[in-house]
Amino acid sequence: MPELPEVEVTRRGIAPYVEGRMLTGVVVRDRRLRWPVASDLARRLKGCTVRRVLRRGKYLLLDCGRGWLIIHLGMSGSLRLTEADADIKPHEHVDLLFDKLALRLRDPRRFGALLWTSADVATHRLIAGLGIEPLSPEFCGAWLHCATRGRRTRIKLMLMNARIVVGVGNIYANESLFRAGIAPRTPAVRLSRTRCDRLSEAIRDTLNAAIAAGGSSLRDFMHSDGSSGWFQQQYYVYDRAGLPCRVCGTFIRLLRMGQRSTFWCPSCQK
Ligand SMILES: [Zn+2]
Repeated sequence: MPELPEVEVTRRGIAPYVEGRMLTGVVVRDRRLRWPVASDLARRLKGCTVRRVLRRGKYLLLDCGRGWLIIHLGMSGSLRLTEADADIKPHEHVDLLFDKLALRLRDPRRFGALLWTSADVATHRLIAGLGIEPLSPEFCGAWLHCATRGRRTRIKLMLMNARIVVGVGNIYANESLFRAGIAPRTPAVRLSRTRCDRLSEAIRDTLNAAIAAGGSSLRDFMHSDGSSGWFQQQYYVYDRAGLPCRVCGTFIRLLRMGQRSTFWCPSCQK
């Protein structure tokens, strides 16, 4: 599933090709995404110039001047840039055309979304309730310490709650907690300011490392096949149950928390 790092790498990959360019057309081959693609989308978008490509959580936001195009990659979506007349492969449902260039959405499971709003995008129902951006300067130990006060929920579940902080999916929650030396079951309220400092840094470092890994494997966004699985990273704990911890050699444990697999080292994480 595309997580925040994949979405951010996509944003950085496509922005130089589409910012400042006029949308000359939209081709929708299959409208049946998570919500049906609006039948008037092409009419609304044609002639717009894409001013900026932003990201909020796992949403890509294309500022089109008279409105915003909100793109979500769902479970299996990806975007790639291609020549507009390049052969259509299976599951390539939508093209945004910029003259001879196409920004092509592929989404085999069709949980992605392509929505238009002419209102302030920050007030859109999918965007308005989102929590803090973990890569923003506001996200720091002081913020996290304040946010954890009064929360008895386990820290891992709190990190994965997108209404509190966006983009920390299961993989990154597991990895960040390992880097910070914090056991995933710790009640959020019990974290000291020092541990909050360490955790906020660990989250930022983990996400930035993934973005760097994705960016380096995708140097040429124009010619990538847009497939998922770009982010072949080495994890400390994720998916390593029963294997020795890379730091101390203790076997990595697995537990279920909120229906998600939680991996941790009982000796490195307290
Ligand atoms: Zn360990």
